Order: sequence, then structure tokens, then C-alpha cells
Amino acid sequence: MTVIISNHPLVQHKLSILRNVNTEPKKFRQLVRELAALLTYEATSDLATMPVDVQTPLAIAHCRELKEKIGLVPILRAGLGMVEGVWELMPSSEVWHIGVYRDEKTLKPVQYYNKLPVEPRVQVCLILDPMLATGGSAVATADILKTWGVKKIKFVGLIGAPEGIALMEKHHPDVPIHLAAIDDHLNEKGYIVPGLGDAGDRQFGTG
Ligand code: URA
Repeated sequence: MTVIISNHPLVQHKLSILRNVNTEPKKFRQLVRELAALLTYEATSDLATMPVDVQTPLAIAHCRELKEKIGLVPILRAGLGMVEGVWELMPSSEVWHIGVYRDEKTLKPVQYYNKLPVEPRVQVCLILDPMLATGGSAVATADILKTWGVKKIKFVGLIGAPEGIALMEKHHPDVPIHLAAIDDHLNEKGYIVPGLGDAGDRQFGTG
């Protein structure tokens, strides 16, 4: 299983502002977008390309363009804030919505929304969620994508807990995980410590 932590100075700088309890929702949203773009830039470094000849104002240039179609799968709701940043980089990617919540009794993820077409039209899916906490939603989302027929899946998040990484490793060792940091632990309420609090509340000004 591959877990890649970005040590890029820009990523680490932005993450420190993001974590700060005094960072306002507007700034927080901007940082989530920017971090999502920076981490995706790294996460997509192995995407397949194909040759293409392009007419410049002067001559033909031998170029390369993306071969595979990319699907973005934000985990609702906090993952939504990452979509815009990634879309800026890959405007032709498709966004697929899957809603999963954790049943409070069984603690198992339950799918409540699924807008996937019958067959995948994409070769690579990026699961987007700022916080890889228990890992339940990430595992459930990867399960759904694999059942749907997606062969190549990557997880892009901001902060991971050891518990969430271990769960992904158990169920989806073939899915690489791209993060800006691995934190210490989950508290009794399932929050990552030190983390950044509730990534959904901090983006949407709720809570
Ligand atoms: N989800 C969050 O938004 N924050 C956490 O710390 C864990 C899960």
C-alpha cells in the first residue's frame, strides 16, 4: 500500500494556516481548494498520456495529452470543497456524487445517494475527502467504485489518522493515499487530533 505525504513547502505552509482555529470559512475554503490542487498535481504524476501534434502559430509541436478520463468523487459534504481546486487543473474531468453516512448503531457506512451512470465512463477515479478519519466512508466509496468497474482509484485528502489509513490498507491496499499530513489519533468522537476540527463545518460556516 502506498501512502504519500507531500512535503512540498507550499502544502505545509497552507496546511498550517488551515489548521488554525482562527482561520475564517472564506479563507478556509480557499485553502482547501488550493491544497486539493497541489496534492492532485502530485497524485496525477503517473497518469497515462498520448502523443498529439499541435499546430502552433509557427509550426507543428509534438505534444502529449491525457489519455485517461478522470472522475472526481467527493465524499459529501467536506469533499465538495476540494472539487473546485481539482477541476481547475482538469476541467474535462467528470464529477460523480456518492453519499455515504455512518449508521450510529452499527457504525457501518450506509449509501444514501448515488449518481453514477450504469457504466463507468472514466478510467481513473480520485476520491476526495479532506479528512481520512475512521476510513469507513473512503472504504465504502472505493467498494462502490470497484463494483461499478473502475480499475484505477486514488484517494486524495489533507489529513489522515492512522486508524483510517489502516482500514484502507486492509480493504483497498491497491488504492494509493495522498495526504498533506498524518496526525496522531482519533478522539472518542471520531475527530482527528490535532487535525483541524470539522472540515465541513469550517468550510460551510455551520456548527
Ligand atoms: N471529519 C472531520 O471533518 N474532521 C475530523 O477530524 C474527522 C472527520
